Amino acid sequence: MTGTPGGRKTRAERLAAPLARNVVKEVAAEHGACLRPVQLRRTDIDTGHVEQVLIPCGHTLASVCPPCAERARLLRAAQCREGWHLDHEPVIEPDPANDQQRTRVADRSEAQADRDALAAEGLDTAELDERIGELDQQITDAGMRGNVLPARARRHRSTRRRQDTAPLPRRAVSSRTIGKTYTAPDGKTFRPSMFVTLTCPSYGRVREDGAPADPDTYDYRRAARDALHFAALFDRFIQNLRRLVGHDLQYFAAIEPQRRLAPHVHIAIRGTISRTELREVIAATYHQVWWPSTETVKYGGGLPVWDEHTSTYLDPDTGEVLPTWDQALNAISDQDEPRHVARFGQRFDAQGVLAGSRDASRCIGYLTKYLTKHLGNCHQAATDAQADHAGRLAEALRYEPCSPACANWLRYGIQPKNARPGLLPGRCKGKAHRREYLGYAGRRVLVSRKWSGKTLADHRADRKAWLTGMLGLPATDPGRYSWTPVKPGDPDHMPTGQRLLHVVADRIQWQTALELARRRAAMNDLSATGSTA
Ligand SMILES: [Zn+2]
Ligand SMILES: [Zn+2]
Repeated sequence: MTGTPGGRKTRAERLAAPLARNVVKEVAAEHGACLRPVQLRRTDIDTGHVEQVLIPCGHTLASVCPPCAERARLLRAAQCREGWHLDHEPVIEPDPANDQQRTRVADRSEAQADRDALAAEGLDTAELDERIGELDQQITDAGMRGNVLPARARRHRSTRRRQDTAPLPRRAVSSRTIGKTYTAPDGKTFRPSMFVTLTCPSYGRVREDGAPADPDTYDYRRAARDALHFAALFDRFIQNLRRLVGHDLQYFAAIEPQRRLAPHVHIAIRGTISRTELREVIAATYHQVWWPSTETVKYGGGLPVWDEHTSTYLDPDTGEVLPTWDQALNAISDQDEPRHVARFGQRFDAQGVLAGSRDASRCIGYLTKYLTKHLGNCHQAATDAQADHAGRLAEALRYEPCSPACANWLRYGIQPKNARPGLLPGRCKGKAHRREYLGYAGRRVLVSRKWSGKTLADHRADRKAWLTGMLGLPATDPGRYSWTPVKPGDPDHMPTGQRLLHVVADRIQWQTALELARRRAAMNDLSATGSTA
């Protein structure tokens, strides 16, 4: 920098100096510290000692908090790696139920018996049904999975397979989750696994940059619907694949956009399947969407109006009540065609991958590459054609119903499920309509339950245990503290800048400690007569 120390600087010189606050952010990011730490007050229950603790925001998008997003991505990579070539069946034993959980279930049992007794007498059960609803919520709140009773029977649809689709070979599915092992002549064993990529079908020819060669004939409607139902189609594919291979096949899958902005899915699969079998399953897999027809726009101008007394939507001119979601579904018969049939494209990619190989690392890189970005931000439009393509897709998604509760159903003269006032077609709040989602609002990573046998929280705890072990820190008893959030008005609240400075100092401190611990461990290895573990 020019200018004498303490002397006057020109305006240009002053502006050229980096802004101290931004430098703090840069330094924080360099050290992997969260840029939006959350402040909590930690009270030691035994001693009453209060401490301020800053915890990372944990956001998974790099546009919000790059260090947290990167940490989340690495955690996913670890989860992917751990499950891919597992050579033993993962053990998933639920914890035994605690007293509170048992009490809740006992309460629920009594309510059910009382309700069924009333129903048998033909009496009104509304009050007890409400009570049962509350108890079910309490059961969930008490940390139990699932419901005590199965959900109410779903609408029956013909399960006859479509005539235009190849038949699917079926086997009984065993509970085995790990792949086969092969032994080479030299006695070495291999447990090969697979990396598979499935894509959507063609909607029209696309150019190198992903934009359609002819935007006017590109099937945007089909593209929009396939994206909306992509998760359901993937689910169906896995079910079919399990039936074909005859065991409880495990997967770690990541949903990503192609350059043409259609979703595709990369799947790490434990064990192997032949290309022929994969082709068979892809050809035989489809997902039918039995939703009411949206062929005719009933209300393009004057929209249905909400009636407060009946809590329903009415025709603006005649005052007629619009059919409810359930009525509209009941009107669909088996003779009707489903509103949409989603399928994968015939082109797919499959390769065998060996545990611990360079290929395995490369594939894990693919699987986690875009996880810190919104689907719509993975390929930024650089050409006019690309921008136009993104715009047309967004427009196609605008009036497509995204779910049974979508406001767009009003446009087609149907009350959305759980209708409420203020719904405007074309203005549905569902994420799928937003540009950055490209029609796919589901989870970006889909992991089968017995992949690594661990949840993300377990993998996070593994990391923490490794770290505290490395630093020789005592394990803290989580029951020893009570936590309260610190709000902006509180006397001990730290403003953002101050919080950032603290997390940077903390990171530097423990990074130094970790480096020291590593060096000490290396020294010990050397002095221990060269024996390696
Ligand atoms: Zn963060
Ligand atoms: Zn919607």
